[in-house]
Amino acid sequence: MLLKDRVAIITGGGRGIGQGVALRYAQEGAKLALVDLEQSHLDETSSLLDESGTGVEYIKLQGDVSNSGDVQRFFDATIEKFGRLDILVNNAGIGNPTIGIIDMPEEAWDKTIAVNLKSVFLCSKLAAKQFIKQGGGGRIISVSSQAGKSGFAMLTPYCASKAGVILFTQAFAKEVGAHKINVNCVCPGTIDTPLLRGAEMGLNLTDEQFTEATKRALPTIPLGRVGYPADVAKVITFLASDDADYMTGQAINISGGQEMH
Ligand code: NAP
Repeated sequence: MLLKDRVAIITGGGRGIGQGVALRYAQEGAKLALVDLEQSHLDETSSLLDESGTGVEYIKLQGDVSNSGDVQRFFDATIEKFGRLDILVNNAGIGNPTIGIIDMPEEAWDKTIAVNLKSVFLCSKLAAKQFIKQGGGGRIISVSSQAGKSGFAMLTPYCASKAGVILFTQAFAKEVGAHKINVNCVCPGTIDTPLLRGAEMGLNLTDEQFTEATKRALPTIPLGRVGYPADVAKVITFLASDDADYMTGQAINISGGQEMH
């Protein structure tokens, strides 16, 4: 087991990539604090964990990662339950309304930046504080995007927030490296999750509709398929493991080759 008895906070653990990370971390022996906005989504992940046969210990924490009071509560509850923290996975994120920047409402900009970028600041700050208090280091892994490396029209706030996560990662890695805190991020490509199936717009594309919607992207993916949460979870597991001891400040593409820089 790569993460035996290590305590991890996973934000956005109720669905999609965060749920995939929770299931993989459970197999690797970690103890989990799952954070999500929707209680029902947390309950969905906890059912899967209970059925996984791993016997994983976990707590469910409902709240908003862009709210500093909620974030403090997530960390306090985690330390109270498990007595320590070893890994933070900053995964929670949202898209933005698919409209051009000229017509983009200020509130939509603010919300995307708050949930995708400010949350990484709020959570990473408390994680690093805890790691330094404990001694012995820790791991911070954030979920950026290929849209943080290349611009996509109509996704400008999203792209800006994800590019921010990459530079946050590099700068913070330099700040806390002396404390043996490794700070990395991943840049997924086209991953089959509720986000990509249009959940935020009240859609839930069927397999057929999803295949149709992603058909145009396939020729741009050298490996010829979309990704799944488990594909991303593998790399986030590696980054939390001892095998990634000498890696920090990195932004790793997980995109089947759709993004190579
Ligand atoms: P998802 O299926 O929508 O899951 C995101 C999770 O984050 C949901 O459970 C959601 O909660 C939670 N969340 C959203 N806002 C939150 C908030 N303010 N506080 C707490 N939790 C919040 O999306 P996903 O595709 O798995 O995305 C996960 C991460 O990967 C995001 O950062 C996303 O930008 C990034 N990413 C995704 C793709 C892709 O192709 N899917 C590609 C690149 C990067 P509720 O739904 O319960 O409200």
